[in-house]
Amino acid sequence: MKINRVEKSRIDSVDFENLTFGKIFTDHMFISKHKNGEWSSGEIKPYENISISPSSRALHYGQAIFEGMKCFKSEQDELFLFRPEENFKRFNKSSIRLAIPEIQEDIFFNGLKELLKIDSEWVKKGIGNALYIRPFVFASEPSINASEANEYTFMIICSPSKSYYGDMEISVKIEEKYSRAAKGGVGYAKAAGNYAAAFYPTKLAIEQGFQQIIWTDSNNHNAIEEAGTMNLFFVIGDKLITSPTSDSILDGITRKSIIELAKFHNIDVLEREITIDEILKEYKSGNLKEIFGSGTAVVVLPIKSFGHRDQLYTLSSEKSSVSSFLKEKLNNIQYNISNEFKNWKFKIN
Ligand SMILES: *Cc1c(COP(=O)(O)O)cnc(C)c1O
Repeated sequence: MKINRVEKSRIDSVDFENLTFGKIFTDHMFISKHKNGEWSSGEIKPYENISISPSSRALHYGQAIFEGMKCFKSEQDELFLFRPEENFKRFNKSSIRLAIPEIQEDIFFNGLKELLKIDSEWVKKGIGNALYIRPFVFASEPSINASEANEYTFMIICSPSKSYYGDMEISVKIEEKYSRAAKGGVGYAKAAGNYAAAFYPTKLAIEQGFQQIIWTDSNNHNAIEEAGTMNLFFVIGDKLITSPTSDSILDGITRKSIIELAKFHNIDVLEREITIDEILKEYKSGNLKEIFGSGTAVVVLPIKSFGHRDQLYTLSSEKSSVSSFLKEKLNNIQYNISNEFKNWKFKIN
């Protein structure tokens, strides 16, 4: 692999205490191109603007997908990824749905590992600190013919991050008009256009005082799907409930890890449909204890209130919650503090 290093790192100009999510990028990036049916082995070069044709299909038809993963630094200065094979598998699953050629595992992982080694100083220690990694692929063939492209660009860029919403709890709006994804659609893929389509309804929700939307099924707007880029969990009585994944719900790696962790710690977990009607009923009877989101960016994020039609429903926040218990267990694995689930840890060396 060709490696072209920066002459001087930008790291000294970065205020790691005050990071806005996704604004600052590390010194280097990885890039590989797909031409004549093949991916190149790729190269690492300084993070910089790239040149693309104005007729690149990604710009017109959104033939593009991405992943989101994190690298953590332990107190012993070792770097760990969390279940990266799952991100790799989902990357190709998303690609297939968007008619993008799959990338080989060795190109993906060699690029990723080399990049992390070169930019390892950008990964800071301490719970909450991480390097957010964004692999993505887009149709770069210059042509506005509305069909799958013949040329693609794969890249990995990295951005130092604190946890997404800090220690905040958020308020969410249950959406009954707009839909994120439909049966047979691309909701299960991290397709670029899914996020663009969510911006407008989310903007309206923010204007109404919420931070995110809870999406409901596109047919009846009654079954709960997910929120923003998070899967959702509900604590009802002593049970932890989450919707099953489907072609309209993204199969989150944090979600499936939380399910396994909860089961391991003898928490009752149910993967079944959960509706607005049930949530309102359980809220009114006092059985709805917690709602939280899960995703790489936030890890676990408590939801303190939700809006449905003209009503705002607020949950009482208790210190010892299922969400804080699971968040700590997960963090301890990610930062290599605990010995649980050793096979989820991927050491960079
Ligand atoms: C990425 C994402 C998630 C969370 O997936 P993780 O693998 O846990 O990061 C959930 N929902 C949507 C729509 C997403 O894009």
